[in-house]
Amino acid sequence: MDKTLIIFKPDCMKKMLLGTVLSRFEAEGFSVAGCKMMQLDSALLREHYAHIAELPFFPQIESFMASEPVVVMILQGEGVVGKVRELLGPTDSTKAPAGTIRGDFGETVMKNVVHASDGPEAAEAEIKRFFSESDFIK
Ligand code: ADP
Repeated sequence: MDKTLIIFKPDCMKKMLLGTVLSRFEAEGFSVAGCKMMQLDSALLREHYAHIAELPFFPQIESFMASEPVVVMILQGEGVVGKVRELLGPTDSTKAPAGTIRGDFGETVMKNVVHASDGPEAAEAEIKRFFSESDFIK
């Protein structure tokens, strides 16, 4: 079964939109295969955002992502990786169309509600990064 890694970001948590956003994923037939609440630290964020860690705006992203505990989740279902990215819309919330999660609930390019893996290889690596065997119910 296809899986993807989702992070409900601090803006989503602060606005109490966790249930609203999750219901959009569930309405597409995707189910929760793992879930936990985490306070993200600098080391984990630098690894997760290695592709942008050297950019000038990275310190702002780091402090935003560490500003509130977040919910990290594995969603599963056929085609979940691509479909979830479609449901999110583009990175910049101000350019995301109405009807997408970022278009409806995002504020800026940074405060964009949810992280979702951008491909199957990224999903596999990110699931390993955020979850360990002991997090799963046997
Ligand atoms: P996505 O999350 O859509 O895959 P990226 O991997 O490019 O996008 O960026 C990771 C996160 O960094 C974005 O979701 C957003 O929160 C933040 N970000 C990206 N570009 C910018 C920017 N120009 N200014 C501020 N924050 C940004």
